[in-house]
Amino acid sequence: MKKKFAVIGGGIGGMAAAISLRNQGYEVTVFEKNRYLGGKMGQIQMQGYRFDLGPSVFTMPGLVDELFEAAGEAPRAYYRYDPLSQSCQYFYEDGTLIRAFGEVEDFARELAAKTGEPQSHIHRFLEKSRTIYELTADLFMFHSIHEPAAMLKRGNLKPLLNFRKIDAFRTMHQANSRHFNSSKLVQLFDRYATYNGSDPYRIPATFNIITHLEHNMGVFYPEGGIHAVVEALQRLMDKTGIRVHRQEPVEKLLPGKDRIQGLQTPQGRYDFDGFVSNMDVNLFYDQLLKEERTLKKLRKPEKSTSALIFYWGVDGSFPDLSLHNILFAKNYRQEFDYLFKQGSISPDPTVYIYISSRVVEGDAPRGKENWYVMVNAPEDTGQDWARLRAEARTNVVAKIQRMLGIQVDRHIECEKILDPPSIGAYTTSYHGSLYGNSSNGKFAAFNRHANFSRRYHNLYFTGGSVHPGGGIPLALASARIVSDKIRKDDKTRQRRKARK
Ligand SMILES: Cc1cc2nc3c(=O)[nH]c(=O)nc-3n(C[C@H](O)[C@H](O)[C@H](O)COP(=O)(O)OP(=O)(O)OC[C@H]3O[C@@H](n4cnc5c(N)ncnc54)[C@H](O)[C@@H]3O)c2cc1C
Repeated sequence: MKKKFAVIGGGIGGMAAAISLRNQGYEVTVFEKNRYLGGKMGQIQMQGYRFDLGPSVFTMPGLVDELFEAAGEAPRAYYRYDPLSQSCQYFYEDGTLIRAFGEVEDFARELAAKTGEPQSHIHRFLEKSRTIYELTADLFMFHSIHEPAAMLKRGNLKPLLNFRKIDAFRTMHQANSRHFNSSKLVQLFDRYATYNGSDPYRIPATFNIITHLEHNMGVFYPEGGIHAVVEALQRLMDKTGIRVHRQEPVEKLLPGKDRIQGLQTPQGRYDFDGFVSNMDVNLFYDQLLKEERTLKKLRKPEKSTSALIFYWGVDGSFPDLSLHNILFAKNYRQEFDYLFKQGSISPDPTVYIYISSRVVEGDAPRGKENWYVMVNAPEDTGQDWARLRAEARTNVVAKIQRMLGIQVDRHIECEKILDPPSIGAYTTSYHGSLYGNSSNGKFAAFNRHANFSRRYHNLYFTGGSVHPGGGIPLALASARIVSDKIRKDDKTRQRRKARK
């Protein structure tokens, strides 16, 4: 008889784990508390406008494709994506505009022309980020680092012995300022720390690996927007016979001595052979499996940043803006001091503007645009959010006017705002943090929760709040680790049984 698995939560990590387990032949049921799947990859509809709720930058699409391929399906029959010829536009207060072209040669030429930095510095930097990826990705991204035996396997020791080569001893900002003469480039490449909600002045330079994902491997965009990836995975789940219980939150797990026996929802009790949690791991131990000691340990590491997002239906068309745009803060260090030391939002925050209607017809009515305007915000620790929201909105509108010459508040015809508490509530994430723990610190990678439980041998964890971390590719990598681990655990049990 096929083993039965429950997946708790239908975010990208939960969907990927469900599909991978189904691909291995298990019977899989997903319990999702919301009406919709996708979690942080949801969408918002408002007066003829559509917005992606959270992620907007799509890298490593191969990790999504492999789920279809393992199921014997052609990914392109479900969804399509293209590489972006320009991944972002960077605006600086002195009027400089840098276009991040998809082709490395074009990008290096643009950076040199706009900042005077020799092109060779840019190439050397991108090669260094490739080396870090090659040394670390296999071990840290695609394997559990919580199993000593796997860590010690030959080959896996390489990154640990190459601490210097992977740049683990200095911060991203220290490495970038040593590498570039131009402070504009330092700021541009420091920004990648925010891709996992961290502080460039404290995160190890190893995380320059993110530059490799974006500039050497490329940024992609799915036809129909980011949410189209979720819709494609839903169709694959339907096709492969995965059951989904929507609007059915899991309220608690029913533990036995060394294994979980069942789960409880408002609709009743269900028993399964195995369980994969895709919930934020802090809330999992808070709500489903009360473990004060684990919770205490989990709460210690600093959390990643959250965000303040304005979804604006904008009456007008602004051709100077592209799909992804950044208006940089004048004083970047100050912005991170506000976020991590003061738990507040800088009066001059870096502003990110994502306009999917630039490429997705139908995301805004004709002649109008859907502006997703985001600034970094600290995790929610009970700040006065009404005040911070109002102040940030005034500052953002003024910054857009100052740097782009657009008086956007005159064009906003509808608006929705998400702040850290509402992100927390919408996406069930602890304190509204976007990426679980921050990566501020040399050993942050080792502080993330493992992809399996040490106490219950049939309980596993996937998603952005556990190893290897937040962001779509890492959440997908965590699902791959879980699925590999379940396969291995099953084999070990079968071998033991056969020996008896
Ligand atoms: C504003 C924002 C911007 C981002 N930008 C990017 C980006 O540009 N690129 C990128 O790669 N990543 C980005 N991310 C991060 C990325 O979205 C996440 O890392 C990733 O989507 C997390 O997926 P997950 O698998 O952890 O699940 P989540 O999306 O966190 O989903 C967890 C699911 O569990 C469900 N759930 C919770 N409790 C229960 C329960 N008791 N019972 C049943 N179901 C439950 C929730 O409803 C939810 O659907 C961004 C995130 C946000 C919020």
